Amino acid sequence: MTERLHSQDAHLLEFDATVVSRREHEGRPAVVLDRTAFYAESGGQPWDTGTLDEARVVAVIEDGEDVLHVLDRAVSADRVRGRVDAERRRDHMQQHHGQHLLSRAFVEVAQAETIAFHLGSEVTTIDLDRLAGEEQARAAERRANEVVWEARPVRVSMLTATEARTQGLEPPEGVEADVRVVEVDGFDRQPCGGTHPRTTAEVGVVVITALERYKGGTRVSFVCGHRALAAIARRQDVLDRLVSTLSAPLDDLVAAAQKAKDDLVESERRAKGLLERALEGEARRLLAEARGDGPAPTPATPALVVAAFDGWSPNDLRVLATRLVGLAPCVALLGSRAGKAHLVFAQSEGLSHDVPALLKGAVEHIGGKGGGRGNVAQGGGDRLDLLDHALAGAADSVRARA
Ligand SMILES: [Zn+2]
Repeated sequence: MTERLHSQDAHLLEFDATVVSRREHEGRPAVVLDRTAFYAESGGQPWDTGTLDEARVVAVIEDGEDVLHVLDRAVSADRVRGRVDAERRRDHMQQHHGQHLLSRAFVEVAQAETIAFHLGSEVTTIDLDRLAGEEQARAAERRANEVVWEARPVRVSMLTATEARTQGLEPPEGVEADVRVVEVDGFDRQPCGGTHPRTTAEVGVVVITALERYKGGTRVSFVCGHRALAAIARRQDVLDRLVSTLSAPLDDLVAAAQKAKDDLVESERRAKGLLERALEGEARRLLAEARGDGPAPTPATPALVVAAFDGWSPNDLRVLATRLVGLAPCVALLGSRAGKAHLVFAQSEGLSHDVPALLKGAVEHIGGKGGGRGNVAQGGGDRLDLLDHALAGAADSVRARA
C-alpha cells in the first residue's frame, strides 16, 4: 500500500521514498513506492509528472492500494528522491478547485448539479443535469469568483462512509472507510481525492468560455488561474490582428466585420451579374465564329462550337454551354484546363446526337470519367495534355454524323 502524501499536503512537491516493488507497464519500467506525492489519475484529474532520481515519471496509475509510477528509464536505487512538476500540479489545483467552486455556485444560482467533470489539457468542462442559460452562467461565475477573492480556507478531512452519509455526502462507489472530504469554509463540502489549494485565492480567477446543450443538460467549459490569463492573451492576439485587418478600433470591430460581410455579398451579386453578361457575350462570339460567312444555323444544319479555356470551372463551362444551345441550333463541345481537364458537351433541343456517348468517348482520352442525360453531359480527367485531342475527336464524330 502506498501512502499518499498529497492527500494531506498538496504543496509538498519533494519527498524521499523506498522502492517496494519493480514492475513493467506497457513496455516501460514502473515502480511502487512506500509513499508518494505523485497524484494518480482519478476523479477527472490527470496524473502528476516529475522525476524519481534521474528518471522521468510519465504516468501515475492507481493499482488497488498501490500507486504505480511509470518511468522513461529504470531506477536502480532502493531509496529514491521524487520531485513533482510544480507547474502542472498548480495548474491541476487551479482547474480542479475552480471546478468545486463553480459546481457549488451552479447549485446556488440554478439548482443545477454537476454530473461529470473533465480536466482537459486546455479546457475543463462540467456537465450540469439541467439547462442553464447565459445569465445563470454569468451569475454562477460571479459567485465562484467572489469566493475566490475572499480567500476562504480549504480543509481536508477523513470520514467513514456512514459519517459522510449522515452529513449528506455520498461517498465514491466502493469506498467505505477514509472518505476524503474537501471543504471550502462556509461554502462547499464534497468527497474528493484531488489536490486542492490551502485557500480559494490560489485559483486566481474562474472564467466560463462556452456553454452548450449536452444530453438534456448543459456542458460548461471554463478556465481558471494561469489558463485564464493565457486565454485572454490568445483572444487579445486575435482581436489585435482583426483590428489591423479590418482597420477599425476595437469598439467598432463588430460593425466593421458586418460591413465587410455585407460588402462581400453585394460584390458577389455584382460579380454574378457581370459573369452572366460575359458568358452571354462569349456565347454570341463563339456562334458567330462557328458560322463564319456561312448561313445561319438551322435544326437541319446546326452550328458546331468547339472551344477550350484555361482556368474555367466546370460550372462556368456548363453555363456557357447552356447559353450556346439556347441561342441557336448547335452542338457545343467545351473544355477547360483548371487543375484537371474538364469537358461539358451539350446540344440544342431537337438535335439527335447521343451526347452522353460522345462525352464518354472523349473523357476516356483524358483518363477520367463523367456522364449525363439527354442533351447535356460533363466529365473530367487528369490528362490536361490530351484535352484538345479529346475535343477534336468528339468534333470529328459530330461532323461524321452530320
Ligand atoms: Zn474534486
